[in-house]
Amino acid sequence: MGSLHRKPLKPVLLGIPFDAHSSYLRGAAEAPPLIREAFHCDSSNSSTESGIELGPESVLDAGDLTLPAEGAFIAIENAVGKLIDEGRTPVCLGGDHSITYPIVRAFGKRFADLTIVHFDAHPDLYDEFQGNRFSHACPFARIMEEGCAKRLIQLGIRTMNAHQRKQADRFGVEVVEMRELPALEKLKLAGPVYVSFDVDVLDPAFAPGISHREPGGMSVREAVSHLHAITGDIVGADIVEYNPKQDVSQLTAIVCAKILKEILGKMIAG
Ligand code: MN
Ligand code: MN
Repeated sequence: MGSLHRKPLKPVLLGIPFDAHSSYLRGAAEAPPLIREAFHCDSSNSSTESGIELGPESVLDAGDLTLPAEGAFIAIENAVGKLIDEGRTPVCLGGDHSITYPIVRAFGKRFADLTIVHFDAHPDLYDEFQGNRFSHACPFARIMEEGCAKRLIQLGIRTMNAHQRKQADRFGVEVVEMRELPALEKLKLAGPVYVSFDVDVLDPAFAPGISHREPGGMSVREAVSHLHAITGDIVGADIVEYNPKQDVSQLTAIVCAKILKEILGKMIAG
């Protein structure tokens, strides 16, 4: 896989406290510090399942973005682009899913052959939602319209409707619905890979701290297995839609930290 010549990837965390494009409940903007707190919590050690030690030398933290009242998306795109240009592999902690559009714009300008692996209960392919083209229900329509990614693979979808099926066909999206899982073979990829992880892909029994609880989702184990199955270089990722206001006993924060650890382990191990 050319790993002999592969430069080690250097992950950096970036919090994006933005939930202004949520269509139903606000609260995701409060997530980044809580995911970090769970990530550093002494309740678990800093080893990933693949045996990578996540220390302060291997994972940097750029803190949380301070977003302007106007032009938040430009600020997000610029901040992510700067980290990529410094040779880092950003892992963004949302925030609602609308932030994935400006994040992936930054990647699309720097990686010609980007494949996105998108974990979600929802396809997020609406042309517009409640009159908002930048809604958290729309990011992947904007990303595919602009050609920011070569391939979009969606996993865990269980809310497909006629409009979004049309959009998926129009953009050539490779949709793997929840009822079709597992899809480990589908994740044998090459080249740069971006992972967008909407926490609501998980069954709300495992992760109640989300704005849109959609029963019948992945277990944490299924999600980790699919993350582990990804080949190719994970050059960036996001974990979005954790809503602390909906959480129960910080259960979902711990789940986000677990997903974060396994993504970081994959990035570092290659
Ligand atoms: Mn989403
Ligand atoms: Mn979702």
